[in-house]
Amino acid sequence: MNELLKKSATEQSKALKNKEISAVELTTAAFDRINSLDDKLGAFNSLTKEIALETAKKVDEKIAKGEELPLLAGIPLALKDNMNMIGSRTTASSKILENFESPFNATITEKLLNNLVPIVGKANLDEFAMGSSNENSAFKKVHNPWNLDKVPGGSSGGSAASVAACEATLALGSDTGGSIRLPASFCGIVGMKPTYGRVSRYGLIAFASSLDQIGPFARTVEDAANLLEVISGYDPNDSTSLNLPVEHFAQNLNNDIKGKKVGVIKELMEEGLEPAVKKALENAIETYKNLGCEIVEISLKKLKYSIGIYYILATAECSSNLARFDGVRYGYRHPNAQNLMDLYTKSRAEGFGPEVKRRIMLGTYALSSGYYDAYYKKAQQMRTLVTEEFLEAFKQADVLISPTCPNTAFDLGAKASDPLAMYLTDIATISCNLAGLPGMSVPAGFDEQGMPIGLQILAPQLQESRLFNFAHKFEQANDFYTKLANI
Ligand code: GLN
Repeated sequence: MNELLKKSATEQSKALKNKEISAVELTTAAFDRINSLDDKLGAFNSLTKEIALETAKKVDEKIAKGEELPLLAGIPLALKDNMNMIGSRTTASSKILENFESPFNATITEKLLNNLVPIVGKANLDEFAMGSSNENSAFKKVHNPWNLDKVPGGSSGGSAASVAACEATLALGSDTGGSIRLPASFCGIVGMKPTYGRVSRYGLIAFASSLDQIGPFARTVEDAANLLEVISGYDPNDSTSLNLPVEHFAQNLNNDIKGKKVGVIKELMEEGLEPAVKKALENAIETYKNLGCEIVEISLKKLKYSIGIYYILATAECSSNLARFDGVRYGYRHPNAQNLMDLYTKSRAEGFGPEVKRRIMLGTYALSSGYYDAYYKKAQQMRTLVTEEFLEAFKQADVLISPTCPNTAFDLGAKASDPLAMYLTDIATISCNLAGLPGMSVPAGFDEQGMPIGLQILAPQLQESRLFNFAHKFEQANDFYTKLANI
């Protein structure tokens, strides 16, 4: 492998500007790495070499002319395969969209292309982003680069694995209940979910629209902050996108956090934590103490309801969002249907996998007349209470910390036949989506088998710069992020 692939985007940008390597060479090196590794890893559903090299060429032309480069120009990036890009298939890892080509670019794709970021391919995921292990892909499993017998986390498992294995320097994922932070934690990299509305979802295949956000994966906090700057901003095509100026999110990375308050979420430090995860959290608390922070214990009593709330709201929204896959407008169409109902039934029965069907049925039930008040309305009311509890918590602390997950990556197959056990993996990540907060996972240590552990940091809405500041300080005070999977 070209050693430069192991470096951060900031370092790769410098190498490009100093002409130590050309953008075409760097992108080609990424493809060499993918070609030699991805049969084992399964991180990519498809590659987009032509598009990537065309972009890289433009970067080299700019460098040759001595022109200023846009942020992250020339840095190889993997796009989760539920984001549209002209010239590629967008499958959401579902048979129903196996051959779907979008006629338009997602807004984030447009922004990446404008900044001359070479998009190397479409990263594998759980079908329609439903899952926590990436085992729900209709095509193939993703393996964890630290141990190929273990899951990479999901649903953005391909995005996380590709960055952890240096097939790409950056990636985008989507996070509805933890799908960026969980795989970042399992793969030992940085993953960040922005405030709801920060990043346009136009061109992202919708799962649960009141929760979905697109966010960055990287191997350093600084790279994640820069990638968020590239993709965020108001978009008239997404009515939920916030009309706020794009910030330079890396502006506060090195701010002193002495005297600031770090809240430790009590309920996430209690039962069910693997001992190594607990130890890593104790180390994180020590780190913040050494940085001069005051540690406060925060109790979030409603947190225990978050999985229940989520699996009503997310399934209700997905049952509605996925109604569009009907064999008429998009994707797979059963060839021998007798009538319209038969066409819907056969196309959907063959096109969707078991987890997606389970979610659609749960959601349809929760929304059905007679049950709506008992389930959907109650869940909405509880969601408000969870959000209010966070507002109170942030009066007592500048950021909140917890493990990203109570456990490290588990064996492939270990939870595949037990949906409830799989759902519980997200206990620490889901409430952040319910409350629309920015949250991230940063590398925080390893367990006795050498599997990575993630520290989750949460901040109030729109305080991404503060979040990156606390994450960067933690990262730089430890050396976990410098360790790469030996693959
Ligand atoms: N694991 C959760 C689920 O299965 C979250 C998925 C996500 O964030 N897209 O729904």
